[in-house]
Amino acid sequence: MSAEGAKRPSRDADSSTFKREGERAEGAKRPSREADSSTVRRDGLTTGSGLPLLPTMGVGSYASPAWLVAAREKIRDQSFGPQDVDETLEDATRIAVADQIEAGLDVLSDGEMRRQRFVYEMFDRLGGLQRVPPLRRVGVPGYDMAPHFVTTGSVEAPGGLGIVSELELLRRLAPGHALKVALPGPLTFGQAIEPAAGYPAGAAGAAALLDDLVGLVRAELLALAAAGADYLQLDEPGLTMSVSGMSLGEAASAITRALDGVPGRIAVHVCFGNNAGRPNAERSLARLLPAMQQIRCGQLVLEFANRQMAELGLLRELSRSHEIAAGVVDVKSFYQETSEDVAERIRQVLEVVPPERLTVTADCGFSALPRWLARAKMRALVDGARLVRRELGQA
Ligand SMILES: [Zn+2]
Repeated sequence: MSAEGAKRPSRDADSSTFKREGERAEGAKRPSREADSSTVRRDGLTTGSGLPLLPTMGVGSYASPAWLVAAREKIRDQSFGPQDVDETLEDATRIAVADQIEAGLDVLSDGEMRRQRFVYEMFDRLGGLQRVPPLRRVGVPGYDMAPHFVTTGSVEAPGGLGIVSELELLRRLAPGHALKVALPGPLTFGQAIEPAAGYPAGAAGAAALLDDLVGLVRAELLALAAAGADYLQLDEPGLTMSVSGMSLGEAASAITRALDGVPGRIAVHVCFGNNAGRPNAERSLARLLPAMQQIRCGQLVLEFANRQMAELGLLRELSRSHEIAAGVVDVKSFYQETSEDVAERIRQVLEVVPPERLTVTADCGFSALPRWLARAKMRALVDGARLVRRELGQA
């Protein structure tokens, strides 16, 4: 079914449009009359949703407080017991949530404080992998230092990816707030894994491995939805980087298959990489446009600020099939945006995206920034959005 993604009628794209309609689990129960009417969906995006026009949110990860960096050393050298670790990471999540609330973000995440560096921590939960030491281990941090694996058998996640417990903690720490849970997609997992034992040789092995990764990501998404998550985001910087022997259309199809049957608001974050604040791909959205149009999800979360708002014109087309969350804060720069900087970027996006189909966000997660700067950038994001809301007559 997913292979047909590219051929779907545009009506389907409208019906997958996500809806800002308040509390969790409502999406799956909405009347079919609404699901069939894109007019109602678009007009109703901001009414009764609890979210303002131009909602603000982070992409997912958050900056580490200084004490957490110190504590991680203790965790790594096993000076901390399991209870110490749990307490430390819960406190870090508490800080991440508190900083987002203080800044005034409309949609909160847990900051992924329990995942040290985005996807890497999650590999510990996968079976059938053996870690390959990186060729370079000292010097400036970079993609060539990232963990890499070969398979020792079929890749599986018998205990899941652990994100349901992250959702439960986030709910406890942020009652009454709109919440989003992000997790890496199958392409991004797959980039770090070389199929060997357990898989056929060549392209067939790569395809079989990707199928397994699609399955375990989808299982986690379904578990999150069953636990009440109503706003889920797949992070797929993997789409922007070359996957050996796979076309962009096939890559988009893998993302869609991972999302198949998952209820609620579904976003996909496509970025060019942000390891230690650096990209890892040719920073052109144009080459990705056909693939992004194929992905069956409600919202695409894309980076623009660090690219001087280049290629905004593509959103004119893309925003017809998908809602857009546009990155208007640069997480790869120490430049501290003013609220007017952010407002001006939002105005540029609004030249091509209708306001009711636009969420404003940072280019990527805040994890590669010092915390003081992440806080300043979140405040600028919130204040910039407020400025533009007032201009649109929405106080
Ligand atoms: Zn990103």
